[in-house]
Amino acid sequence: MGLKKVLLFCLFSAACCCKAQEYDYNYSFFSNSAMPDDYFFSATDNELSMIFNRNFRLLVNKKTAHTPGNALQLSYINAKGGRWNASVFHQQKRGMDHFKKANFLSFWAYNATADSTIKDLPLIQLMKTDSSLTETVRVPVTEANSWKQVLIPATSFKGLDVNNPAGIIAVVFSQQHDRNSKKQTIYIDDIEFVPEKTAAKITAIPSIAKATGYAMHVDISWSIPSDRNIKLIKIYRSVDGTNFIPVGIQQPYINRYADFTGETNRKYYYKINFLNSNYEESDFSPVTEASTRQLTDDELMTMVQEASFRYYWDGAENKSGLAKENISGRQNMIATGASGFGIMALLVGTEKKFITRLDAVNRFITIVNFLEKAQTFHGAFPHFINATNGKVEPFFGENDNGADLVETSFLMQGLLAARQYFTGNDAQEKLIREKITTIWKRIEWDWFKQTPDSKFLYWHWSPDKAWVINHTLIGWNETMVTYLLAIASPTHGVPASMYYSGWANQDATGQNYRSAWGQTKDGSMYTNGNTYGGVKLDVGVSNGGPIFFTHYSYMGYDPHLITDIYTNYFRNNQRIAKINYNYCVQNPKKYRGYGKDCWGLTACDGPFDYSADEPNERQDHGKIAPTGAISSFPYLPEEAMAALKNYYFNYGSFLWGEYGFKDAFDITNNWCSEIYMGLNQAPMAVMIENHRNGFLWKLLGKDPDVKAGMDRLQLETDKMRNNRVR
Ligand code: CA
Repeated sequence: MGLKKVLLFCLFSAACCCKAQEYDYNYSFFSNSAMPDDYFFSATDNELSMIFNRNFRLLVNKKTAHTPGNALQLSYINAKGGRWNASVFHQQKRGMDHFKKANFLSFWAYNATADSTIKDLPLIQLMKTDSSLTETVRVPVTEANSWKQVLIPATSFKGLDVNNPAGIIAVVFSQQHDRNSKKQTIYIDDIEFVPEKTAAKITAIPSIAKATGYAMHVDISWSIPSDRNIKLIKIYRSVDGTNFIPVGIQQPYINRYADFTGETNRKYYYKINFLNSNYEESDFSPVTEASTRQLTDDELMTMVQEASFRYYWDGAENKSGLAKENISGRQNMIATGASGFGIMALLVGTEKKFITRLDAVNRFITIVNFLEKAQTFHGAFPHFINATNGKVEPFFGENDNGADLVETSFLMQGLLAARQYFTGNDAQEKLIREKITTIWKRIEWDWFKQTPDSKFLYWHWSPDKAWVINHTLIGWNETMVTYLLAIASPTHGVPASMYYSGWANQDATGQNYRSAWGQTKDGSMYTNGNTYGGVKLDVGVSNGGPIFFTHYSYMGYDPHLITDIYTNYFRNNQRIAKINYNYCVQNPKKYRGYGKDCWGLTACDGPFDYSADEPNERQDHGKIAPTGAISSFPYLPEEAMAALKNYYFNYGSFLWGEYGFKDAFDITNNWCSEIYMGLNQAPMAVMIENHRNGFLWKLLGKDPDVKAGMDRLQLETDKMRNNRVR
């Protein structure tokens, strides 16, 4: 290891120690499979012996579970001279990167073998990041037909660093005895590292605040408990008020649970309790009831809006009232752009009366007070903010330790809309407007030109590394709003000519930039002009790119009102949506699920990685994010509604949760995301309302600075048009 690397390593280690205030998660390998039948994050392998599997993955059993809704099924037949193994992998989630100590490996086992005497128990090993295995430990399961905790001290596994659970990537079960056996079945659940084996009894008793029935699910909410010894909240349902069955668990930092029953017009009873870290249950809450009911299309849309809105309301970061990057993920980290989207979702929520105006005012006061004092760089906010101190959090790497102009513009788009919403003459609403104006006026958009005669705006700036990332903002993509707001700024504006010289640049810089990310010459001139599946595309790289390009800038800015010398952006966005839709209907890679009611390739979580998917074979990975189609309501309302209904009614059992639709799913791989993303939930709430009545479009359009910016752009466009005619 060279000196530079050692130094970097030390710096990195030190940085990790400093972030101790982040929430510590248990390092877990399995709690529940998001999907039925087989567990995506597992792998089986056998020779002569047999490990029962589906798609070379462990089976998922719904009937017998330690925590509802399911457990892993380890069924095997040993053969002399044979072997089998089954690996259960830790599922990495963005921002779930601070873990409790791994002093014990804990899991729960249920011996379900027919004659109830398992003699051929499996062995257990841990797999390290380099794929090597620790030595073996025998699984001590003997008693039949009951759940028993297996607790193995870390010292049993040489090579396991108790302070760094992330050094282990899987728990591996394998054949122990070299002899023939009958079929053996053990259910395994809640595999995780735990810091200690004892747990305090929970004396607090929960209560359900509200239970509300929708078409096929009931939403149950409670107050977040203060006792940090509570590991989980367990939810029980009954259809007769007497016989309750456990239906789900929830994390203690989330205050609601969506129970998807799959039935309409049915009455249900609920009670909940708290679990300590040994899964011992507290006393039950009183019973609450709710009935599912038929919803109209409009009510279904509102249901999606309200659930998505809750990500930014109940799910907000505590201190600032702003949005997290994803849930579950970092709990003290604010995502700037997602917060701007969330602000617009909060406005929708206020308008739809999900909360009172007074609640909204109080929240916005928290928001603007926090933002006014948070660290900025030439007035621009960083991509991520540490909520505990208001300073930049370089979550995407040490170079990203300063301003992010694009995220700042997403935030500002929301704040300027809020400035037009809170028009009251009382001191509170005035304060909201004034502080937004302060935040807006101090952003030095012109600083981000890098040089005074620059044609372009630049994405990032670092206080100690200056322009090291050096990312030029060139369209067409999600960053139109950045140019529009830079032109609109009354204090540090850039000339409207930069829309054409920078954003729509047509010289070598622009062409190279576009063909590099698009991997095609299509659209490299900003204009495109090709026809894809019968749909002509005026502007856009490749065949339009991921569909979020048609959402982010146009949640506040009305695309109907943006016409440059090349196209009108409502029409162009509509065509991009149509190309995306047609591609998914055609489905050239034959992914399962794609069709008229399942479309909208975009940026989202995935079974293998987060990626920005596009409607072409190179960038289509088989995963669909509900936000893709649903945030496209203004462009393709019928197709968006078909997708909404399909996702809810057919996939709701795994896809619907406490904040609405989970981020993404992939039927081909039998995978569903377990997170919600701050950039993906709000666009659904906002664009549904824009489709209904142009709510956010009208609000932002009323802003005098925004209007002045659009007028300046119009003059520039007129000038360009006249030059062209000549
Ligand atoms: Ca479970």
